[in-house]
Amino acid sequence: MGGGPVGVGLAVDLGLRGVSCAVVERRTELQNIPKGQNLTPRTLEHFYFWGIADELRAERIMPKGYPIAGMVAYGSLMSDYWYVVPQRELVRKFYFEDVERLPQYLTEKVLRARMAQLPSVTNLFGWTAETIAQNASSVSVTIASSDGAQREVLEADYLVGCDGAHSLVRGQAGIERGGTDFDQPMVLAVFRSRELHELLKRFPERGTFNVLHPDLKGYWQFTGRVDVGESFFFHAPVPPNTTKDNYDFLGLIQRVAGRPIKAEFDYVGFWDLRVAVAETYQAGRVLIAGDAAHSHPPYGGFGLNNGLEDAVNLGWKLAATLRGWGGNALIPSYSDERRPIFKETGEDFIAARIDEDAVWLERHNLQRDKAEFEAAWAERKAGAGRGITTYEPSYEGSPLIAGPPGGKTTAHGTHTWSARTGHHLAPQPLSSGKNVFEELGPDFTLLAFGAPEADVEPFADAAAAARIPLKVVRDSFAGGREAYEQRLVLVRPDQYVAWTADRAPSDVPALLARVTGSTLP
Ligand SMILES: Cc1cc2nc3c(=O)[nH]c(=O)nc-3n(C[C@H](O)[C@H](O)[C@H](O)COP(=O)(O)OP(=O)(O)OC[C@H]3O[C@@H](n4cnc5c(N)ncnc54)[C@H](O)[C@@H]3O)c2cc1C
Repeated sequence: MGGGPVGVGLAVDLGLRGVSCAVVERRTELQNIPKGQNLTPRTLEHFYFWGIADELRAERIMPKGYPIAGMVAYGSLMSDYWYVVPQRELVRKFYFEDVERLPQYLTEKVLRARMAQLPSVTNLFGWTAETIAQNASSVSVTIASSDGAQREVLEADYLVGCDGAHSLVRGQAGIERGGTDFDQPMVLAVFRSRELHELLKRFPERGTFNVLHPDLKGYWQFTGRVDVGESFFFHAPVPPNTTKDNYDFLGLIQRVAGRPIKAEFDYVGFWDLRVAVAETYQAGRVLIAGDAAHSHPPYGGFGLNNGLEDAVNLGWKLAATLRGWGGNALIPSYSDERRPIFKETGEDFIAARIDEDAVWLERHNLQRDKAEFEAAWAERKAGAGRGITTYEPSYEGSPLIAGPPGGKTTAHGTHTWSARTGHHLAPQPLSSGKNVFEELGPDFTLLAFGAPEADVEPFADAAAAARIPLKVVRDSFAGGREAYEQRLVLVRPDQYVAWTADRAPSDVPALLARVTGSTLP
């Protein structure tokens, strides 16, 4: 339910797996607001597996090759104190795809077009969900057409609420949310300004420009390019009770620019600065994903990227359960795996950063002590990009992951070439010249690199006996593949490593049962 990027992404994932599903979305038109621009290399991997990475890149507005990472300035965009932020290029090599940047409505356009090609997906755009109900064997949703003239009841095995931050599904399923409310309204403005574009020429080419102001308790004044010309989006804190008509938004943008520039506004809207995470992502046959499960400010670009990872984590689990090879623990593992990741993302990578910036700005002030400020700024500049390299979600604590005991599911980690249970698989070349990612199957894949056939056969036999779709990719333990440090790597449908070793375990059926949720550890 909900046909934003996460709902449609999930429908694409399910549709490609042949699962019959319907997307209920009240909007028929896309909302032309350039949010959700920053797509990570991991997100582009989803688009690769959905067969639309090239289509997505073709929609990019900014010129190919234009640096899309950001920079930070102190006080205003005319400041002498600024630095560029090395962003996801720091971790690029550990993923099969590159970053991308485009407005969310174009991403949604590409997803909707892909969904329309999939015969098992029914599009119910222009319909609003009103009530949900569930029993032990099914779930139902009452939907109304946009003119209110028609009502229908849909019945299904599962319902996934991808219906955004104010999720009706979350509310009616009785799922509570916890988190931090900063009690701070934010404006989101879209404007055109040739003069701002000219002013930004004082910096290296960049996609986003974040101003840290000593008066703003760590809240960002954030300007992003929509194109390389005159189109920008902007978000910043505003006083309580600000409306479109009672505040001088041009004056605000001029203060951020540090100059009296001209700007023409196309859109002004508001959002509340809040980091909220649902207490669980599942209540019986009802699940939630994307902003319905976790909402937060767009600091760091975690929202859409995390929401699409939810969709990818859940898609194969729903499909495997409906096809009969997923066990009872498979769908519940979605909440076990995804919720702790977002909880830490919200607390440690978003809320804590706002607090840290507030403390930093309080402690180091240019007017008060220039020399001390300059030393602190230099230190800050040297540490820029730290969050990018330490953000490495892993599911080591998941009941499905057959790794060393005591593993923890966490958003904190390091990127390595080694294949580690519970972690995202890094790409490596094959002897054929292709990449491992190009050979991964839609379901489970066993990478057998220099492993004896006697260790591979038990996997093929056990998978066939349990009707678990398994692809085996054989190659030598050389040419870069030795960097995995293990000759056998069992990869899940979402490209996370389920198990790894040099030799097959004594009980391969038990291992497969565990990673498909049929037995608990
Ligand atoms: C200014 C800004 C910048 C951002 N930048 C980034 C970024 O760089 N990177 C990033 O990853 N994220 C970013 N985000 C966050 C990102 O936009 C959201 O995380 C994303 O939209 C979440 O997608 P979703 O599908 O979960 O929810 P939504 O996009 O909110 O979609 C939910 C859908 O459900 C529909 N719906 C709701 N209720 C019903 C109902 N009862 N019946 C039928 N339909 C219903 C709605 O119409 C809507 O289409 C940004 C957000 C903002 C505001």
